Amino acid sequence: MTSGSDRRTFDAIIVGGGIVGAAAARALANEGLDVALFERNRLGFGASSRNIGFVFLHGRKGVSLDIARRNRLLLDTFYDEMGGDFEYRRNGGLVLCESQGQLSLIKEFVDARRRDGLNIEFIDRQSLLELAPDVHENVVGASFCSEDAQIGTATVVRALAGSAVRSGATVLEGYEVLEILTAGGRVTGISTAAGRFEAPIVVWATGPWHRMATSSGPLELPVKSMRNQLIATTPQLPRLKCVLYGAICLAAYTPLVKDLPSFSPDLFDRRETKAGECMMDAISQRSDGSYVFGGPVDDAGFSWEPDVDGVGRILRRFVRLFPGLSASGFKESWAGRIPYTSDNLPIIDRHPAATGLLVASGFSFGNSSALVAAEGLADLAMGRPKSALIAQLGIDRSTLTNDFSYSLG
Ligand SMILES: Cc1cc2nc3c(=O)[nH]c(=O)nc-3n(C[C@H](O)[C@H](O)[C@H](O)COP(=O)(O)OP(=O)(O)OC[C@H]3O[C@@H](n4cnc5c(N)ncnc54)[C@H](O)[C@@H]3O)c2cc1C
Repeated sequence: MTSGSDRRTFDAIIVGGGIVGAAAARALANEGLDVALFERNRLGFGASSRNIGFVFLHGRKGVSLDIARRNRLLLDTFYDEMGGDFEYRRNGGLVLCESQGQLSLIKEFVDARRRDGLNIEFIDRQSLLELAPDVHENVVGASFCSEDAQIGTATVVRALAGSAVRSGATVLEGYEVLEILTAGGRVTGISTAAGRFEAPIVVWATGPWHRMATSSGPLELPVKSMRNQLIATTPQLPRLKCVLYGAICLAAYTPLVKDLPSFSPDLFDRRETKAGECMMDAISQRSDGSYVFGGPVDDAGFSWEPDVDGVGRILRRFVRLFPGLSASGFKESWAGRIPYTSDNLPIIDRHPAATGLLVASGFSFGNSSALVAAEGLADLAMGRPKSALIAQLGIDRSTLTNDFSYSLG
């Protein structure tokens, strides 16, 4: 979608064409700013196109639930505005109760989440089969949250970028930003292999690539990333009505379950889980009918590749949970990196290093936060006060530390 021109001067430059950068480009262009988005590869190349598509409020609490709820409203509005021109299924989401032994925990989880104000209930096996007909016969029920949804994140990125272009933005794919240019404590633009581009506002939205080179030296954000491996089948008949997690995801949403009376790490099937990683057992069926299933979340250096061991374990989990799908064709496997911060909230703020430098980084649940980020970035770019939500996502908040023990909650 390169909508380039020979122009070199803009009101605002966005660095990074993932869901956050594309949403930011649209929001700033809608403010009447002359915006250019620079993506070094192609739109959605990073975490956003490797994503499994969960819009999962089920596991959100406090500020992150507030963000996710606001984001769902904004997604609804954008979907209507686009005439339904991206993949968006508003059918809720499930966490499976895989055995009688997990029943008390899942019911306590549902009760606790209801007290947090979530629209969630426990459903028995019969109701579950209407949503997920192929689950293993041992699965006794599930928690069901009607606020959950599913998107094709790559389709949303393209819809956002397309909308930005229609509002006058320039989208440049294949342009790597090498440095953010500053002078006298202010941002002046960026440099690329194709030369310099000027703008008084630069938004850094590069997902897992969180190190910034600036004229006055490198900047490091308190962000890390974890590898997540996934597999996809060939297209199958459409049967799975909504996104779902196996019960083991609750071990990754630790803060939400660790104080529940029935919680014990021994409740989960860890046969395919290695020490030091989270196993997610996330499954969705895409609009083309293919199932996506994943997968281990681990550090793995800065690897973007799946490995044989990880893919093997995903496939064994998949067949155990969905034995009826074991004859499905295997299509592909891939990996991506999930950015995250110590408190699992993104950073959306002005960077103190230079006036005009805005940061949108550390998004571990970008499907449920990118549009909120864009709204906040528009306020920052226009010099308006931060909303109450964005004020909690500042770069100087005390919960941003170097303790990166990963949990999804
Ligand atoms: C396998 C996987 C599954 C996931 N599943 C979910 C899910 O179900 N639900 C959910 O909410 N979240 C999920 N996530 C997390 C979600 O994908 C991220 O929160 C979101 O995509 C982050 O978006 P982003 O725009 O910040 O980063 P990215 O999508 O990574 O975009 C950053 C972009 O910046 C570009 N870039 C980097 N450096 C430069 C540079 N110097 N110059 C120009 N461009 C540059 C990159 O090429 C990239 O395209 C998942 C992530 C992964 C990896």
